[in-house]
Amino acid sequence: MQHDLPGIRGEYVFDFQLGRASFLRVGGTCDVMFFPSDKDDLIQFLQQKPKDLRIYVVGNLSNVLVPDCGIMGCVVSLTRMAGEISFHGETASVGAGLGLQDFIMEAASRRISSCEYLFGIPGTIGGATVMNAGVSDFEMADSLASLNCIDMRGNEVNIPRDKLNMTYRDGGIPNDLIISDATMRICMEPSIDPKSTIAHLRRKRLLTQPVGCSTCGCTFKNHGGLKAWQLIKEAGCDKLSVGGASVSKIHCNFLINTGNAKASDFIELIGTIKAQVLAKTGILLEEEIVTIGGGY
Ligand SMILES: Cc1cc2nc3c(=O)[nH]c(=O)nc-3n(C[C@H](O)[C@H](O)[C@H](O)COP(=O)(O)OP(=O)(O)OC[C@H]3O[C@@H](n4cnc5c(N)ncnc54)[C@H](O)[C@@H]3O)c2cc1C
Repeated sequence: MQHDLPGIRGEYVFDFQLGRASFLRVGGTCDVMFFPSDKDDLIQFLQQKPKDLRIYVVGNLSNVLVPDCGIMGCVVSLTRMAGEISFHGETASVGAGLGLQDFIMEAASRRISSCEYLFGIPGTIGGATVMNAGVSDFEMADSLASLNCIDMRGNEVNIPRDKLNMTYRDGGIPNDLIISDATMRICMEPSIDPKSTIAHLRRKRLLTQPVGCSTCGCTFKNHGGLKAWQLIKEAGCDKLSVGGASVSKIHCNFLINTGNAKASDFIELIGTIKAQVLAKTGILLEEEIVTIGGGY
């Protein structure tokens, strides 16, 4: 495969330890990881890559379960692309590989409000948009204005926010598009102090979520008005574990790698929780975490 790949300015890493780079620290390698150096590099790659090469895209891997068998094909990460932020009037342009936290902190340092309610979500702008990442009363959809994407043939596509069907934890992004940058709505008002919101959220997360653990955050989506963690507790799943995968004692919708887990432990644990919750409550929980491997 090495010989068929187009020349690029970024970097190819062969047999990249994708699982080890993920927040859950489980799963195998991918054939090749491509870190484009900028948008043009990515476009050139997509235009010249072999037609049968399967392409996947990841952000910070904070919501992804990598299978133990790894991934056949090429995984693209935008995290080394120049992650520029530029503020203009009522919007900011942000590279999709940039950390959501970096954008929030940069905006806050200028007393600019945008999506500071998402403080603590460890994803990239691209990953947070695909997931429509959010908290109980705010989500990416609330501050997104438009997206620039690139399709698998290297064509650029602009999508205004109102053309996206963004719903709970689903950005409605067609899965043959790579988000290259986002335009976020911003505002600056004397009465709004994003730094105090951030300080409050930092304290709240420290008190309610496991810190310093290998986890993807919430594993399951809430079901209508019902919290997934309540359903898990009600079904008696809050102390379950399989191999090295365990339900967190601090937040039972968080699954953690206690040290030596395999992806298969998480898959089994997720299946057991779903079966027990269904038997107890009649509700089939839906995963919020994504298992990478479908491809384009
Ligand atoms: C401690 C912790 C707390 C968390 N708290 C929250 C929370 O409060 N709310 C919440 O919603 N989530 C939360 N999460 C989950 C996770 O951080 C979010 O879903 C985040 O938005 C994922 O972003 P990522 O960059 O890591 O994406 P990844 O996990 O790498 O990928 C997620 C999906 O996005 C796709 N993707 C990524 N980048 C692109 C791109 N540029 N173009 C196209 N597709 C792309 C991937 O293919 C994949 O389908 C938490 C996770 C952790 C570990």
